[in-house]
Amino acid sequence: MAGADIGSLQSSILFSVLVLFIATTAYLLFIRSLPGQPNAHQRRALKLFSWFFLTEFLAYLVYCLRFIDLYLFSVVFNNMLYLCGVYLFYCGIRLRYQLEISLRVIGWIALHVLGLAAAMFWFTAVYNEIFIRLPLALGSFCIPVLITFSLIRQQQRPGNLGDRVLLLCTVAALLLIPLLYPIFGYLLKPDQQGQLMVMTLVTLTLETLCIGGLAISYIYDLIDKLRSDANTDKLTQSSNRRYFFKVAPLFQQRVGAGENISLVLLDIDHFKQLNDRYGHQAGDAVLRHFAALLRQLLSNTDLIVRYGGEEFLLVLPGYTPAQTLPLLQQFQALLRQSPLLYEGEELAVRASYGVAALHAGQDIDHCVHRADLALYQAKANGRDTVVLDSLGATS
Ligand code: GH3
Ligand code: MG
Ligand code: MG
Repeated sequence: MAGADIGSLQSSILFSVLVLFIATTAYLLFIRSLPGQPNAHQRRALKLFSWFFLTEFLAYLVYCLRFIDLYLFSVVFNNMLYLCGVYLFYCGIRLRYQLEISLRVIGWIALHVLGLAAAMFWFTAVYNEIFIRLPLALGSFCIPVLITFSLIRQQQRPGNLGDRVLLLCTVAALLLIPLLYPIFGYLLKPDQQGQLMVMTLVTLTLETLCIGGLAISYIYDLIDKLRSDANTDKLTQSSNRRYFFKVAPLFQQRVGAGENISLVLLDIDHFKQLNDRYGHQAGDAVLRHFAALLRQLLSNTDLIVRYGGEEFLLVLPGYTPAQTLPLLQQFQALLRQSPLLYEGEELAVRASYGVAALHAGQDIDHCVHRADLALYQAKANGRDTVVLDSLGATS
Protein backbone atom coordinates (compact mmCIF):
# COMPACT_ATOMS: atom_id res chain seq x y z
CA MET A 1 0.00 0.00 0.00
CA ALA A 2 1.42 3.43 -0.91
CA GLY A 3 2.15 5.93 1.88
CA ALA A 4 -0.43 8.45 0.59
CA ASP A 5 -3.16 5.81 0.72
CA ILE A 6 -2.71 5.31 4.44
CA GLY A 7 -3.92 8.87 5.16
CA SER A 8 -6.98 8.31 2.98
CA LEU A 9 -7.59 5.01 4.68
CA GLN A 10 -7.53 6.68 8.12
CA SER A 11 -9.92 9.48 7.18
CA SER A 12 -12.18 6.98 5.48
CA ILE A 13 -12.30 4.79 8.59
CA LEU A 14 -12.95 7.85 10.77
CA PHE A 15 -15.80 8.90 8.52
CA SER A 16 -17.23 5.39 8.51
CA VAL A 17 -17.14 5.26 12.31
CA LEU A 18 -18.95 8.61 12.48
CA VAL A 19 -21.67 7.45 10.08
CA LEU A 20 -21.98 4.19 11.94
CA PHE A 21 -22.32 6.06 15.23
CA ILE A 22 -25.16 8.21 13.85
CA ALA A 23 -26.85 5.17 12.30
CA THR A 24 -26.58 3.17 15.54
CA THR A 25 -28.06 6.07 17.51
CA ALA A 26 -30.97 6.17 15.06
CA TYR A 27 -31.36 2.42 15.52
CA LEU A 28 -31.44 2.68 19.32
CA LEU A 29 -34.01 5.47 19.09
CA PHE A 30 -36.10 3.14 16.97
CA ILE A 31 -35.98 0.40 19.63
CA ARG A 32 -37.02 2.89 22.27
CA SER A 33 -39.91 4.07 20.12
CA LEU A 34 -41.54 0.63 20.06
CA PRO A 35 -44.64 0.74 22.25
CA GLY A 36 -44.43 -1.43 25.39
CA GLN A 37 -43.02 -4.93 25.21
CA PRO A 38 -42.28 -5.86 21.60
CA ASN A 39 -44.44 -8.71 20.30
CA ALA A 40 -43.09 -11.67 18.30
CA HIS A 41 -43.30 -9.76 15.01
CA GLN A 42 -41.56 -6.74 16.43
CA ARG A 43 -38.82 -8.91 17.93
CA ARG A 44 -38.24 -10.43 14.50
CA ALA A 45 -38.19 -6.92 13.05
CA LEU A 46 -35.61 -5.90 15.67
CA LYS A 47 -33.47 -8.89 14.77
CA LEU A 48 -33.59 -7.82 11.14
CA PHE A 49 -32.64 -4.27 12.10
CA SER A 50 -29.64 -5.67 14.01
CA TRP A 51 -28.63 -7.54 10.86
CA PHE A 52 -29.01 -4.33 8.92
CA PHE A 53 -26.47 -2.56 11.07
CA LEU A 54 -24.11 -5.52 11.13
CA THR A 55 -24.32 -5.66 7.34
CA GLU A 56 -23.78 -1.95 7.17
CA PHE A 57 -20.70 -2.22 9.38
CA LEU A 58 -19.30 -4.97 7.17
CA ALA A 59 -20.07 -2.79 4.15
CA TYR A 60 -18.02 0.03 5.62
CA LEU A 61 -15.15 -2.31 6.42
CA VAL A 62 -15.19 -3.52 2.85
CA TYR A 63 -15.45 0.07 1.73
CA CYS A 64 -12.17 0.74 3.53
CA LEU A 65 -10.70 -2.38 1.95
CA ARG A 66 -10.84 -0.82 -1.46
CA PHE A 67 -7.71 1.11 -0.64
CA ILE A 68 -5.94 -2.21 -0.65
CA ASP A 69 -5.48 -4.32 -3.76
CA LEU A 70 -8.92 -5.94 -3.82
CA TYR A 71 -10.40 -2.83 -5.40
CA LEU A 72 -12.92 -4.35 -7.81
CA PHE A 73 -14.06 -6.94 -5.31
CA SER A 74 -14.53 -4.41 -2.52
CA VAL A 75 -16.56 -1.96 -4.67
CA VAL A 76 -19.00 -4.67 -5.75
CA PHE A 77 -19.17 -6.35 -2.36
CA ASN A 78 -19.62 -3.06 -0.52
CA ASN A 79 -22.63 -2.12 -2.62
CA MET A 80 -24.16 -5.57 -2.39
CA LEU A 81 -23.87 -5.56 1.39
CA TYR A 82 -25.25 -2.07 1.66
CA LEU A 83 -28.25 -2.89 -0.51
CA CYS A 84 -28.83 -6.07 1.54
CA GLY A 85 -28.81 -3.86 4.64
CA VAL A 86 -31.45 -1.54 3.23
CA TYR A 87 -33.62 -4.51 2.22
CA LEU A 88 -33.31 -5.98 5.71
CA PHE A 89 -34.54 -2.61 6.96
CA TYR A 90 -37.49 -2.83 4.55
CA CYS A 91 -38.31 -6.39 5.70
CA GLY A 92 -38.10 -5.15 9.31
CA ILE A 93 -40.76 -2.54 8.55
CA ARG A 94 -42.95 -5.21 6.88
CA LEU A 95 -42.72 -7.37 9.98
CA ARG A 96 -43.40 -4.41 12.23
CA TYR A 97 -46.70 -3.93 10.41
CA GLN A 98 -47.29 -7.69 10.60
CA LEU A 99 -47.06 -8.16 6.83
CA GLU A 100 -45.80 -11.36 5.28
CA ILE A 101 -42.55 -11.58 3.35
CA SER A 102 -43.49 -13.75 0.38
CA LEU A 103 -41.16 -15.71 -1.88
CA ARG A 104 -41.98 -13.24 -4.64
CA VAL A 105 -40.65 -10.35 -2.52
CA ILE A 106 -37.49 -12.30 -1.70
CA GLY A 107 -36.98 -13.15 -5.39
CA TRP A 108 -37.39 -9.51 -6.34
CA ILE A 109 -34.88 -8.43 -3.68
CA ALA A 110 -32.32 -11.07 -4.77
CA LEU A 111 -32.70 -9.97 -8.40
CA HIS A 112 -32.12 -6.34 -7.49
CA VAL A 113 -29.07 -7.05 -5.29
CA LEU A 114 -27.46 -9.34 -7.89
CA GLY A 115 -28.38 -6.96 -10.72
CA LEU A 116 -26.68 -4.07 -8.96
CA ALA A 117 -23.62 -6.22 -8.23
CA ALA A 118 -23.35 -7.24 -11.88
CA ALA A 119 -23.73 -3.63 -13.08
CA MET A 120 -21.12 -2.47 -10.55
CA PHE A 121 -18.71 -5.15 -11.64
CA TRP A 122 -19.14 -4.24 -15.27
CA PHE A 123 -18.81 -0.47 -14.73
CA THR A 124 -15.80 -0.86 -12.47
CA ALA A 125 -14.02 -3.36 -14.73
CA VAL A 126 -14.77 -1.60 -18.02
CA TYR A 127 -14.98 2.11 -17.22
CA ASN A 128 -13.74 2.55 -13.67
CA GLU A 129 -15.53 5.90 -13.61
CA ILE A 130 -16.74 7.00 -10.20
CA PHE A 131 -19.28 9.42 -11.60
CA ILE A 132 -21.14 6.57 -13.33
CA ARG A 133 -20.70 3.99 -10.61
CA LEU A 134 -21.77 5.95 -7.53
CA PRO A 135 -24.99 7.45 -8.97
CA LEU A 136 -25.95 3.95 -10.07
CA ALA A 137 -25.36 2.65 -6.54
CA LEU A 138 -27.24 5.56 -4.98
CA GLY A 139 -30.18 5.27 -7.39
CA SER A 140 -30.37 1.58 -6.67
CA PHE A 141 -30.26 2.22 -2.91
CA CYS A 142 -33.13 4.71 -3.28
CA ILE A 143 -35.48 2.06 -4.71
CA PRO A 144 -35.90 0.05 -1.46
CA VAL A 145 -36.08 3.29 0.55
CA LEU A 146 -38.94 4.48 -1.67
CA ILE A 147 -40.73 1.12 -1.37
CA THR A 148 -40.30 1.27 2.41
CA PHE A 149 -41.67 4.77 2.40
CA SER A 150 -44.73 3.84 0.34
CA LEU A 151 -45.30 0.88 2.66
CA ILE A 152 -45.34 3.21 5.69
CA ARG A 153 -47.81 5.39 3.76
CA GLN A 154 -50.07 2.41 2.98
CA GLN A 155 -50.47 1.78 6.69
CA GLN A 156 -52.35 5.08 6.65
CA ARG A 157 -50.32 6.55 9.42
CA PRO A 158 -50.51 10.34 9.20
CA GLY A 159 -47.33 11.84 7.72
CA ASN A 160 -44.89 13.55 10.09
CA LEU A 161 -41.65 15.53 10.02
CA GLY A 162 -39.50 12.38 9.82
CA ASP A 163 -41.45 11.16 6.80
CA ARG A 164 -40.86 14.47 5.10
CA VAL A 165 -37.09 14.37 5.82
CA LEU A 166 -36.96 10.84 4.44
CA LEU A 167 -38.90 11.71 1.32
CA LEU A 168 -36.93 14.89 0.72
CA CYS A 169 -33.57 13.09 1.03
CA THR A 170 -34.66 10.26 -1.21
CA VAL A 171 -35.98 12.61 -3.87
CA ALA A 172 -32.83 14.75 -3.55
CA ALA A 173 -30.66 11.67 -3.92
CA LEU A 174 -32.64 10.47 -6.93
CA LEU A 175 -32.74 13.79 -8.74
CA LEU A 176 -29.72 15.80 -7.67
CA ILE A 177 -26.94 13.30 -7.30
CA PRO A 178 -26.95 11.98 -10.86
CA LEU A 179 -26.60 15.64 -11.93
CA LEU A 180 -23.98 16.55 -9.32
CA TYR A 181 -21.73 13.58 -9.92
CA PRO A 182 -20.71 14.44 -13.46
CA ILE A 183 -20.06 18.05 -12.33
CA PHE A 184 -17.86 16.92 -9.42
CA GLY A 185 -16.27 14.37 -11.72
CA TYR A 186 -15.43 17.11 -14.21
CA LEU A 187 -14.19 19.65 -11.63
CA LEU A 188 -12.02 17.21 -9.70
CA LYS A 189 -10.88 15.12 -12.64
CA PRO A 190 -7.13 15.19 -12.01
CA ASP A 191 -7.53 14.39 -8.31
CA GLN A 192 -9.00 10.90 -8.12
CA GLN A 193 -8.76 10.68 -4.30
CA GLY A 194 -10.37 14.11 -3.76
CA GLN A 195 -13.12 13.20 -6.21
CA LEU A 196 -13.77 9.98 -4.36
CA MET A 197 -13.90 11.70 -0.95
CA VAL A 198 -16.30 14.45 -2.05
CA MET A 199 -18.69 12.03 -3.73
CA THR A 200 -18.55 9.60 -0.86
CA LEU A 201 -19.22 12.43 1.57
CA VAL A 202 -22.31 13.55 -0.35
CA THR A 203 -23.58 9.99 -0.72
CA LEU A 204 -23.07 9.03 2.90
CA THR A 205 -24.53 12.29 4.19
CA LEU A 206 -27.72 11.70 2.21
CA GLU A 207 -27.90 8.09 3.32
CA THR A 208 -27.39 9.11 6.94
CA LEU A 209 -30.07 11.79 6.64
CA CYS A 210 -32.46 9.16 5.28
CA ILE A 211 -31.83 6.98 8.32
CA GLY A 212 -32.20 10.04 10.56
CA GLY A 213 -35.52 10.75 8.82
CA LEU A 214 -36.70 7.25 9.63
CA ALA A 215 -35.69 7.68 13.27
CA ILE A 216 -37.55 11.01 13.54
CA SER A 217 -40.54 9.37 11.88
CA TYR A 218 -40.61 6.66 14.56
CA ILE A 219 -40.22 9.19 17.37
CA TYR A 220 -43.30 11.03 16.07
CA ASP A 221 -45.06 7.66 15.91
CA LEU A 222 -44.25 7.13 19.56
CA ILE A 223 -45.49 10.57 20.57
CA ASP A 224 -48.79 9.96 18.69
CA LYS A 225 -49.12 6.57 20.36
CA LEU A 226 -48.50 7.99 23.85
CA ARG A 227 -51.01 10.74 23.16
CA SER A 228 -53.71 8.34 22.03
CA ASP A 229 -52.92 5.91 24.89
CA ALA A 230 -53.55 8.70 27.39
CA ASN A 231 -57.00 9.30 25.86
CA THR A 232 -58.06 5.72 25.20
CA ASP A 233 -59.54 3.03 27.39
CA LYS A 234 -57.28 -0.01 26.93
CA LEU A 235 -59.97 -2.68 27.24
CA THR A 236 -62.58 -1.31 24.84
CA GLN A 237 -60.50 1.09 22.73
CA SER A 238 -63.15 3.75 23.36
CA SER A 239 -62.19 7.22 24.57
CA ASN A 240 -61.76 7.53 28.30
CA ARG A 241 -63.37 9.93 30.77
CA ARG A 242 -60.26 12.10 30.83
CA TYR A 243 -60.56 12.68 27.08
CA PHE A 244 -64.26 13.46 27.38
CA PHE A 245 -63.63 16.24 29.89
CA LYS A 246 -60.73 17.50 27.78
CA VAL A 247 -62.92 17.97 24.69
CA ALA A 248 -66.13 18.91 26.54
CA PRO A 249 -65.52 22.69 26.15
CA LEU A 250 -65.45 22.23 22.36
CA PHE A 251 -68.91 20.63 22.43
CA GLN A 252 -70.18 23.43 24.64
CA GLN A 253 -68.87 25.97 22.13
CA ARG A 254 -70.68 24.19 19.32
CA VAL A 255 -73.93 24.19 21.28
CA GLY A 256 -73.37 27.89 21.94
CA ALA A 257 -73.16 28.37 18.17
CA GLY A 258 -76.61 26.77 17.76
CA GLU A 259 -75.82 23.11 17.10
CA ASN A 260 -77.89 20.33 18.71
CA ILE A 261 -75.83 17.88 20.76
CA SER A 262 -77.24 15.01 22.83
CA LEU A 263 -75.53 12.96 25.50
CA VAL A 264 -76.56 9.34 25.98
CA LEU A 265 -75.55 7.41 29.07
CA LEU A 266 -75.72 3.63 28.57
CA ASP A 267 -75.41 1.02 31.29
CA ILE A 268 -75.27 -2.71 30.56
CA ASP A 269 -78.11 -4.57 32.30
CA HIS A 270 -77.34 -7.18 34.94
CA PHE A 271 -73.67 -7.08 34.14
CA LYS A 272 -72.72 -8.24 37.60
CA GLN A 273 -74.70 -11.45 37.06
CA LEU A 274 -72.82 -12.02 33.79
CA ASN A 275 -69.52 -11.55 35.61
CA ASP A 276 -70.56 -13.84 38.47
CA ARG A 277 -71.86 -16.57 36.18
CA TYR A 278 -69.24 -16.67 33.42
CA GLY A 279 -66.26 -14.99 35.05
CA HIS A 280 -64.49 -11.66 34.81
CA GLN A 281 -62.91 -12.54 31.46
CA ALA A 282 -66.34 -13.10 29.93
CA GLY A 283 -67.36 -9.71 31.38
CA ASP A 284 -64.35 -8.10 29.68
CA ALA A 285 -65.25 -9.79 26.39
CA VAL A 286 -68.80 -8.43 26.70
CA LEU A 287 -67.45 -4.90 27.23
CA ARG A 288 -65.24 -5.19 24.14
CA HIS A 289 -68.13 -6.60 22.12
CA PHE A 290 -70.47 -3.86 23.30
CA ALA A 291 -68.00 -1.10 22.36
CA ALA A 292 -67.33 -2.70 18.97
CA LEU A 293 -71.08 -2.74 18.19
CA LEU A 294 -71.34 0.93 19.19
CA ARG A 295 -68.49 1.76 16.81
CA GLN A 296 -70.19 -0.26 14.08
CA LEU A 297 -73.37 1.80 14.35
CA LEU A 298 -72.07 5.28 15.09
CA SER A 299 -70.19 7.61 12.78
CA ASN A 300 -66.68 8.97 13.23
CA THR A 301 -67.96 12.32 14.40
CA ASP A 302 -69.78 10.75 17.36
CA LEU A 303 -67.78 10.25 20.52
CA ILE A 304 -67.88 6.96 22.42
CA VAL A 305 -66.57 7.20 25.97
CA ARG A 306 -66.15 4.43 28.54
CA TYR A 307 -67.49 6.46 31.40
CA GLY A 308 -67.35 3.84 34.17
CA GLY A 309 -67.09 0.06 34.62
CA GLU A 310 -69.96 -1.01 32.34
CA GLU A 311 -71.19 2.48 31.61
CA PHE A 312 -70.66 4.25 28.29
CA LEU A 313 -71.33 7.84 27.32
CA LEU A 314 -72.15 8.86 23.75
CA VAL A 315 -71.82 12.42 22.51
CA LEU A 316 -74.00 12.76 19.41
CA PRO A 317 -73.62 16.05 17.52
CA GLY A 318 -76.55 16.97 15.28
CA TYR A 319 -79.10 15.08 17.40
CA THR A 320 -81.90 16.36 19.61
CA PRO A 321 -82.81 13.78 22.31
CA ALA A 322 -85.94 12.80 20.34
CA GLN A 323 -83.81 12.20 17.25
CA THR A 324 -81.58 9.78 19.17
CA LEU A 325 -84.56 7.43 19.66
CA PRO A 326 -84.45 5.69 16.24
CA LEU A 327 -80.66 5.38 16.52
CA LEU A 328 -80.83 3.82 19.97
CA GLN A 329 -83.63 1.48 18.89
CA GLN A 330 -81.40 0.42 16.00
CA PHE A 331 -78.65 -0.29 18.53
CA GLN A 332 -81.03 -2.33 20.69
CA ALA A 333 -81.91 -4.39 17.60
CA LEU A 334 -78.21 -4.82 16.78
CA LEU A 335 -77.56 -6.07 20.33
CA ARG A 336 -80.38 -8.61 19.96
CA GLN A 337 -79.05 -9.85 16.62
CA SER A 338 -75.46 -10.08 17.83
CA PRO A 339 -75.14 -12.09 21.03
CA LEU A 340 -71.52 -12.68 22.10
CA LEU A 341 -70.30 -16.21 21.44
CA TYR A 342 -68.20 -17.03 24.50
CA GLU A 343 -66.76 -20.52 24.95
CA GLY A 344 -69.56 -22.05 22.91
CA GLU A 345 -72.32 -20.16 24.70
CA GLU A 346 -74.33 -17.23 23.39
CA LEU A 347 -74.34 -14.37 25.89
CA ALA A 348 -77.26 -11.98 25.44
CA VAL A 349 -76.28 -8.38 26.20
CA ARG A 350 -78.86 -5.68 26.91
CA ALA A 351 -78.55 -2.12 28.14
CA SER A 352 -80.53 0.84 29.46
CA TYR A 353 -80.26 4.36 28.08
CA GLY A 354 -80.67 7.85 29.49
CA VAL A 355 -80.63 10.81 27.08
CA ALA A 356 -80.17 14.51 27.77
CA ALA A 357 -79.57 17.54 25.56
CA LEU A 358 -76.51 19.67 26.08
CA HIS A 359 -77.65 23.23 26.60
CA ALA A 360 -75.67 26.38 25.93
CA GLY A 361 -74.02 27.86 28.99
CA GLN A 362 -74.80 24.78 31.05
CA ASP A 363 -72.16 22.81 32.93
CA ILE A 364 -71.36 19.54 31.16
CA ASP A 365 -71.39 17.71 34.52
CA HIS A 366 -74.96 18.85 34.98
CA CYS A 367 -75.94 17.45 31.57
CA VAL A 368 -74.33 14.08 32.41
CA HIS A 369 -76.20 14.16 35.71
CA ARG A 370 -79.53 14.64 33.87
CA ALA A 371 -78.67 11.75 31.52
CA ASP A 372 -77.85 9.69 34.63
CA LEU A 373 -81.26 10.48 36.19
CA ALA A 374 -82.96 9.41 32.94
CA LEU A 375 -80.86 6.23 32.95
CA TYR A 376 -81.94 5.54 36.53
CA GLN A 377 -85.53 5.90 35.35
CA ALA A 378 -84.86 3.46 32.48
CA LYS A 379 -83.57 0.90 34.99
CA ALA A 380 -86.65 1.47 37.16
CA ASN A 381 -88.89 1.00 34.10
CA GLY A 382 -87.63 -2.56 33.71
CA ARG A 383 -84.31 -2.07 31.80
CA ASP A 384 -83.56 -2.47 28.07
CA THR A 385 -85.36 0.85 27.46
CA VAL A 386 -84.60 4.45 26.52
CA VAL A 387 -85.68 7.38 28.68
CA LEU A 388 -85.32 10.99 27.57
CA ASP A 389 -84.56 13.61 30.16
CA SER A 390 -87.74 15.66 30.71
CA LEU A 391 -86.00 18.91 29.77
CA GLY A 392 -84.69 17.25 26.60
CA ALA A 393 -88.02 15.64 25.79
CA THR A 394 -89.72 18.98 25.54
CA SER A 395 -86.91 20.63 23.56
P1 GH3 B 1 -77.84 -3.02 36.50
O1 GH3 B 1 -78.68 -3.80 35.55
O2 GH3 B 1 -78.68 -2.36 37.56
O3 GH3 B 1 -76.96 -2.07 35.81
O4 GH3 B 1 -76.97 -4.06 37.29
P2 GH3 B 1 -75.46 -4.40 37.03
O5 GH3 B 1 -75.17 -5.75 37.58
O6 GH3 B 1 -75.12 -4.20 35.61
O7 GH3 B 1 -74.70 -3.22 37.81
P3 GH3 B 1 -73.76 -3.17 39.04
O8 GH3 B 1 -73.35 -1.74 39.15
O9 GH3 B 1 -74.35 -3.84 40.22
O10 GH3 B 1 -72.47 -4.04 38.60
C1 GH3 B 1 -71.51 -3.57 37.74
C2 GH3 B 1 -70.41 -4.58 37.76
O11 GH3 B 1 -69.46 -4.30 36.72
C3 GH3 B 1 -69.61 -4.59 39.03
C4 GH3 B 1 -68.16 -4.69 38.60
O12 GH3 B 1 -67.51 -5.79 39.20
C5 GH3 B 1 -68.26 -4.90 37.14
N1 GH3 B 1 -67.16 -4.30 36.40
C6 GH3 B 1 -66.73 -3.01 36.43
N2 GH3 B 1 -65.70 -2.83 35.60
C7 GH3 B 1 -65.44 -4.03 35.02
C8 GH3 B 1 -64.48 -4.50 34.08
O13 GH3 B 1 -63.64 -3.76 33.56
N3 GH3 B 1 -64.52 -5.80 33.72
C9 GH3 B 1 -65.44 -6.66 34.24
N4 GH3 B 1 -65.42 -7.92 33.83
N5 GH3 B 1 -66.33 -6.25 35.16
C10 GH3 B 1 -66.35 -4.96 35.54
MG1 MG C 1 -73.43 0.50 36.41
MG1 MG D 1 -75.21 -2.23 34.80
